[in-house]
Amino acid sequence: MKKIVIIGAGIAGLSTGCYAQMNNFQSEIYEMHSNPGGVCTSWKRGDYLFDHCLHWVIGSNRGTSLYPIFKELGIADSIDFFYTDKFRVISVNGQSMTVYTDINKFEAELLHLFPEEKKGIKKYINLVKKYTKFNPPMDGDFGNFGITGFIKLLPFMPSFMRLKRITVEEYLNNLFNNNVLKEILYRIFPVKKLPALMAVMPLSFMHREEAGYPLGGSLNFAQKIERKYTELGGKVHYKCRVKKIIIRNSCAIGIELDNGNFIPADIVISACDGRTTLFEMLEGKYLTKKIKRFYRKPHLWPPILSISLGIKRDFSSMSEIKDFKLNEPILVNGKEIWWSGFFHYCHDSHFAPKGKSVLQTQIETDYFYWKQLYEKDRDRYYYEKERVLKIYIRILEDIFPGIKDDIEVTDVATPVTWERYTGNWQGSYEGWMPTIETFGVTLPKKLPGLRHFYMTGQWVFPGGGVPMCMAQGKNLIQQIVKERKR
Ligand SMILES: Cc1cc2nc3c(=O)[nH]c(=O)nc-3n(C[C@H](O)[C@H](O)[C@H](O)COP(=O)(O)OP(=O)(O)OC[C@H]3O[C@@H](n4cnc5c(N)ncnc54)[C@H](O)[C@@H]3O)c2cc1C
Repeated sequence: MKKIVIIGAGIAGLSTGCYAQMNNFQSEIYEMHSNPGGVCTSWKRGDYLFDHCLHWVIGSNRGTSLYPIFKELGIADSIDFFYTDKFRVISVNGQSMTVYTDINKFEAELLHLFPEEKKGIKKYINLVKKYTKFNPPMDGDFGNFGITGFIKLLPFMPSFMRLKRITVEEYLNNLFNNNVLKEILYRIFPVKKLPALMAVMPLSFMHREEAGYPLGGSLNFAQKIERKYTELGGKVHYKCRVKKIIIRNSCAIGIELDNGNFIPADIVISACDGRTTLFEMLEGKYLTKKIKRFYRKPHLWPPILSISLGIKRDFSSMSEIKDFKLNEPILVNGKEIWWSGFFHYCHDSHFAPKGKSVLQTQIETDYFYWKQLYEKDRDRYYYEKERVLKIYIRILEDIFPGIKDDIEVTDVATPVTWERYTGNWQGSYEGWMPTIETFGVTLPKKLPGLRHFYMTGQWVFPGGGVPMCMAQGKNLIQQIVKERKR
């Protein structure tokens, strides 16, 4: 029986391991952390569970092309998904808009608030409605649908190609004149440089109830796949950092751990950070032009500062996500941050005792700022985290008077925290950001001049996301099985 060694017990590594076991390989995963999940994680603080990761998971519902993977990995039968009717409430200068997941209700809300934009609203909503019938096979790399996918895609082809080539910002600017409306819509799709498809498809997924929140949180989600993996006979070795991939005669023959131990393998699969794999574990010896281009000028998801609060107050009557524009910006490293908000987890009883709540927010920030503070001035690093936390609490105090006295536990994670705990380059939590240049482009899973080695996970395709990482595991094992004619 061929032995596969997998580096990383994130969602991609665990999924790859499950499919390896299902296909009669013997596999082992080596993970540097003490838990599975990688960035898909949660952690306990006192009575509260904190979690910055999963808010919605595409494919969670029966009928989607991803659903068989949810079934095969044991998620469909072990996790309940929560489908909200209000995706978020967004406020600018006292004007609030509810983004309903039902597209007809959202249309009515837009028309009610911005009647003068009727023409653009109709055009936009009609497109989202059209995309509610868009159901291409999503089990490949996102945006790379293969021939069957493209046949299914034919009726959508003109709009799909157009929306793939322009940014969210360009698309919304062409449709609307009202700046408040545009500002509100940008909050739904906060990265303006994403392809305009991202201004359409998420709303259609929400409408079809295909993107649920997994009750129990992110770590629980990962643990369910880990359980499946061990039931299938796989083994995860925790607290084992991989230092090197060992090569002999152009073949990967195993890995070397930090403690110097050599673990032999017939096939090595890296499901961890792409840069560490290519430039450290493989010493930059096996690169293609495309890989060099991606790493030379990286377009990564913007790093984030995440703040979590455990509060003895009940927020369950409010919509789960609220975003509001501030009257005064928060300054971090001289950069003005104009938006704040929160996600409360009251719909999930795992997060706080009855009558209490977890509030969590994410602020876009600069990785290098936090990195240099962490390395050169650790006191300032902690001081700065504390400073931003205090500002955030002050903002909440204006909205919910007295809240400061109800806060029982706090936690602040910077991009350096993400990097330290998961190894992801520059703290990028989802790897490459899809842009109009890179949407649907994949990076090689096999490297030139190196046999018996593969890469998978969020660093081999722009976009990231749990369902796609689960699908990556399946695709890769199918590819290996085919190559070996098993
Ligand atoms: C804040 C945030 C919000 C998100 N929201 C969503 C969402 O709502 N919906 C959604 O679908 N997706 C979401 N994602 C994205 C999704 O969680 C990720 O794309 C996905 O989990 C990545 O999985 P992965 O296995 O490829 O990588 P990782 O999770 O990075 O796993 C890699 C693993 O490798 C390990 N590792 C690294 N280096 C080594 C080494 N040298 N030796 C051994 N082990 C090593 C790490 O510890 C880690 O466990 C979010 C992510 C974040 C962070």
